[in-house]
Amino acid sequence: MELFADWHTHTNYSDGRATAEEMVAAAARRGLAQVALTDHGPRAMFIGVRDAGVYRELKKQAAPLSEKYGVQVLVGAEANVISLDGEIDLPPEIIKELDILIAGLHPQVWCRPWWKTLNWILPNRLGKSIYQLREMMRRDNTRALVAAVHRNPLTFVGHPDLVMAVDLDEVARACAVAGCAMEINTGHHYDRDGVVQAALRRGASLVVNSDAHFPGSVGDLAAGAALLDKYRVPPERVLNARRAPGNRPDFPFNETDAPGNYVFLH
Ligand SMILES: [Zn+2]
Ligand SMILES: [Zn+2]
Repeated sequence: MELFADWHTHTNYSDGRATAEEMVAAAARRGLAQVALTDHGPRAMFIGVRDAGVYRELKKQAAPLSEKYGVQVLVGAEANVISLDGEIDLPPEIIKELDILIAGLHPQVWCRPWWKTLNWILPNRLGKSIYQLREMMRRDNTRALVAAVHRNPLTFVGHPDLVMAVDLDEVARACAVAGCAMEINTGHHYDRDGVVQAALRRGASLVVNSDAHFPGSVGDLAAGAALLDKYRVPPERVLNARRAPGNRPDFPFNETDAPGNYVFLH
């Protein structure tokens, strides 16, 4: 399957190693039509953006970079789920300016209320090595991610079931209802087959991204494309798949004059 965009990358505004311009230049070298810069939300411990205003700075850079490199540059965020009720670490006024909104569970985040960091996030960190603990945390993690899907206008959930275990079927069911996709993240090793299978069973859409932190990884989507082919996933189910003429997506992307080129609606 041919993919036209990579909507999950990081710059040195969070824990990426390169500037926005270097990441966009790399996207151009890969021949992508679109790239999204999606730095970590501010409550990610040590690696988040210094404050949510950073996304506005990136938005100012997007148009000139699009012009210079011939790649449509989107600005998004990889927000953190910070409570069991599905709150994320960005205010509504920033969210509405973003082109792409990702939410994910991360085991390095300051929760709301803060003490939840101790009895929700910390056991997940330990659960990486203690199987029973991992299973115990699965219920809380699933509750939080499902609530985040229903509560926020997400484009997709980032790397579901990576490190912080979730019930993928429950997440896929929520995504199908809310019109949110599930990510196949080629930058991490986890049960990506399980993500595809759950999405297909429950009717959720998929999206393939690199989660690049270096220019060399931008648009490195081959493992995800191979997985889509393995399960014969139709392109209509994949947000960033190129489709045959006459079979264009109507949500959340609009066709422009250029074939295979899409514009985000908000
Ligand atoms: Zn992440
Ligand atoms: Zn990421």
